[in-house]
Amino acid sequence: MTDSIFKSKLPNVGTSIFTKMSLLANQYGAINLSQGFPEFDVPDYLKSRINEAIVGGKNQYCPSMGLPDLLHEIGALVQRCYIENETRKMDALHSVTVTSGATEALWVAFQTIVRPGDEVIVFDPAYDSYEPAIELAGGRCRHVAMSAPDYAIDWNVVENTINHQTRAIVINTPHNPTGTLLVQSDMEILQKLVLKHDLYVISDEVYEHITFDGLRHESVLRYPELFMRSMVISSFGKTFHCTGWKLGYCVAPKALTDEFRKIHQYVTFCSFTPAQFAIAQMLKAHPQHMDELSGFYQQKRDVLVSALQDSRFEVLPSKGTYFVLVDYSEISDLNDVEFCHWLTKEIGVAAIPLSPFYQADLLNEYHQKHKIVRLCFAKHDETLLKAAELLCQL
Ligand code: PMP
Ligand code: GLN
Repeated sequence: MTDSIFKSKLPNVGTSIFTKMSLLANQYGAINLSQGFPEFDVPDYLKSRINEAIVGGKNQYCPSMGLPDLLHEIGALVQRCYIENETRKMDALHSVTVTSGATEALWVAFQTIVRPGDEVIVFDPAYDSYEPAIELAGGRCRHVAMSAPDYAIDWNVVENTINHQTRAIVINTPHNPTGTLLVQSDMEILQKLVLKHDLYVISDEVYEHITFDGLRHESVLRYPELFMRSMVISSFGKTFHCTGWKLGYCVAPKALTDEFRKIHQYVTFCSFTPAQFAIAQMLKAHPQHMDELSGFYQQKRDVLVSALQDSRFEVLPSKGTYFVLVDYSEISDLNDVEFCHWLTKEIGVAAIPLSPFYQADLLNEYHQKHKIVRLCFAKHDETLLKAAELLCQL
């Protein structure tokens, strides 16, 4: 078999923009505000617990669905954050599955729901793992654009896009890369559409604990009827500054969870046992960590945004996540990929271009209208100030 006769299942996929930009940042010694990962270490308590778990011999397979203690703690967290009504009880044993990061959860969710020939609606700019996972499940993405500066969803366009092949809608709130949030009216319209057209929702909520200015995260888990047709995905990587541990989870009604677990057991069987022990204890001992995360990141956002105030970048509002978009049209005519390369090599700051988050058809329109890149502010204040100083010279 030679390369020339091997037919790729993903002919349009190359190396991810996050890998490319981090490599370039390292190569040129630039401050890396590109790939989203925290510069902070995991909390000391969590470090000690994972150390204890490894030294104490918790190193074998755990139950495929996840360690019972961790399932219980995730259930308690969901109940506390999103289910105000005491009559609705989270049944964690039957509706939560621990996964190897949100990436695995997304993959398994698409395999669970999408059948060959199905269409799945995604909103551009969209996180890069959705489309390949949907295609490998035999589905096809229908891209609906959200437009700067508010990146709101036009639900009339969504309804016009729905047809008899439409199987699911993917939402992501708080949203990577735009830092926007869906609001209650979005969720109510989504619920109506899903029930009317017999659809499913894959809800990527990995930044659920990072929202700013007192704004509330509108989890699908708050909406009982919507939840009955949804798979809600989160990641401990974002919450506990441990992106390299690759631990996440999926919450779904029992019938969907049963199907999800069938596939999860053959993708990985179970996820990293020591981290499950450690995170279960962290969730129990330090519930305030989740409550403090928004304040912690809001301060980071404010440091970067105010340091960029006198620059020629136009800073777009960031209401959640650890990302902020900036418009560089006053600074350069380069397209966003060229601009990010130039910025990394010549100025010493790495950013992420937005165009890789768009489908080709929507890209032309995007390039004509916008010159926008993404900055990650999950960094120490000194790093953010140093980067801003360089950016203010432009
Ligand atoms: N979804 C979004 C929107 C993300 O930004 C990320 C990662 N940064 C993921 C999913 C994947 O999360 P994980 O690292 O837990 O696989
Ligand atoms: N989700 C992270 C980001 O948006 C990157 C994750 C990855 O590198 N795959 O930057």
